[in-house]
Amino acid sequence: MSDSPSDDLPHILLCNDDGIAAPGIQALAEALDPLGTLSVVAPESEQSAVGHAITVRDPVRAHEVEFSTSSGPVPAWAVTGTPTDSVKLACHELLDTRPDLVVSGINHGPNTAVNVLYSGTVSAATEASILGIDAVAVSLCDWSSDDFAVAGRWTRRIVRLVLRAGLPEGTLLNVNVPALPADEISGLAVTRQARSRWEEGFDTRTDPADRRYYWLAGTFVDLDDGQETDTTAIDRGYVSVTPLQHDLTAYDALDALRDWGWSEDDSEPDET
Ligand code: MN
Repeated sequence: MSDSPSDDLPHILLCNDDGIAAPGIQALAEALDPLGTLSVVAPESEQSAVGHAITVRDPVRAHEVEFSTSSGPVPAWAVTGTPTDSVKLACHELLDTRPDLVVSGINHGPNTAVNVLYSGTVSAATEASILGIDAVAVSLCDWSSDDFAVAGRWTRRIVRLVLRAGLPEGTLLNVNVPALPADEISGLAVTRQARSRWEEGFDTRTDPADRRYYWLAGTFVDLDDGQETDTTAIDRGYVSVTPLQHDLTAYDALDALRDWGWSEDDSEPDET
């Protein structure tokens, strides 16, 4: 440990999936700068929708890059891998001290409902949680707006509380902020993930060599009429905060499955 005067400030690692040059991570750094000592380790190129992917068949490289907020330079590395690679590499190799908190974002576009599973933004935070570090993922619910200032201010407020209280073990926060002016945001709602799915369609096209290719073109369908969901909160103008866990066990199904009679003879696989 160094003896720099900032040692009593929490060390906050920033990551994202839109790439280290994205405006959302710049806004995140600006917003969180007053709360701690920042480091940035993020993919060098966009990695949206890579989920919790890791790189195992190729080398992963990291190079230091210039990154600064209005108060000065921030140590930063661009990583050739995924968001999850970035958090692993940051915590195991690049940083001198383990972060007290990892904040991922601010993502361009919502990460509500089933999209949590596809999200690289959420996965960076999930990886931190797996490593035993408190983590928050933040997304702005709009693909066109580049104005992350309001989302940044809400993130600062949420992160201040997380730093003060600490998260329950194994729990991370998934924050979605509606793309609204500050005075039109209704407040903050603690929510659950809405049940939803993408009804997939593929555009089938033909390339110049006359080979068929496919372009994913799904439609998001919200299957949940609950009032306490992340999608409902966003529709009503609330900042949505959903506690997530990486233990995917379906606990409600355990007892029913144990009663299936797995060891009875008629449940044995055919041996012929
Ligand atoms: Mn993204």
